[in-house]
Amino acid sequence: MSLPAAPSVCPACGVGPRRSFELSNGFPLLRCPECGMGWWDFPALDPAAFYDRDYFQSSDAAKGYDDYASLEAGLRITARARLRRIERLAGRAAGANGHGAATLLDVGCSTGTFLDEARRRGWDVRGLEVSDYAAGVARARGMAVQCGTIDDAAPADASLDCVTLWDVIEHLRVPANAIAAAARGLRAGGVLALSTGDLSSWCARLSGPRWHLFNLPEHLYFFTAKSLRLLLERAGLSVRAVRREITWFPMGYLTERLSKTLLGGRRKPRRRGGWVVPITLFDIISVYAVKRP
Ligand SMILES: [Zn+2]
Repeated sequence: MSLPAAPSVCPACGVGPRRSFELSNGFPLLRCPECGMGWWDFPALDPAAFYDRDYFQSSDAAKGYDDYASLEAGLRITARARLRRIERLAGRAAGANGHGAATLLDVGCSTGTFLDEARRRGWDVRGLEVSDYAAGVARARGMAVQCGTIDDAAPADASLDCVTLWDVIEHLRVPANAIAAAARGLRAGGVLALSTGDLSSWCARLSGPRWHLFNLPEHLYFFTAKSLRLLLERAGLSVRAVRREITWFPMGYLTERLSKTLLGGRRKPRRRGGWVVPITLFDIISVYAVKRP
């Protein structure tokens, strides 16, 4: 299987990159001098094989489910906040497409929590997910989910009211193609919403190579608001909002992460759940754009 390797010029502005510091995998971070977008010289690996092998194998099924269940409440709060923003933008649109419920495609839908929240709010939903395992979980929850990428299964016609890509774009080999395919699937006035890490954030700048979103080798690209704006505008979309994301986590999860960081995981927290609290390092951005007529 031949897959596109890392680009030699910035996918957003076509300018050759400068070498920045060395990442934890030994590759230098390549950065565009114009828009600040970063990437590394990633090899041609099959992403489907990668996610099958590593993503869900490391923890046994019982533990995985425990972790997931403890994060679920927070994921749902985040999903509802995102949907409220989409509905404000698609607003008139959502009810005004003239033929029933507004349609939403979630690309990289994982186990379907966002789709489930959208469905509860009246959206007609479907998902795309590269992990066979996660797609199976979503289907078991009653969601219409196809296993694949947006390149394999691009929306056929310009009829969708919304396409979402939450924490997906940084994993893709040719992000401009994925954005173009999503844009083609939208009707005029439809909303494209995505989230990703912001390489120009203060957290990323202060952390250097230790930034927690230099998650390698899964993350291939590291975006900035400027690079995303260029990519989206070129695909025929108008950016309406760029927001710093606030996400919600259970206290148990946070104390566990903290004890791992500070105490090397020596003390085991009593429970993983508990109150769900908002947290942000102001280094994840969500972008909401509307397809131009
Ligand atoms: Zn650039």
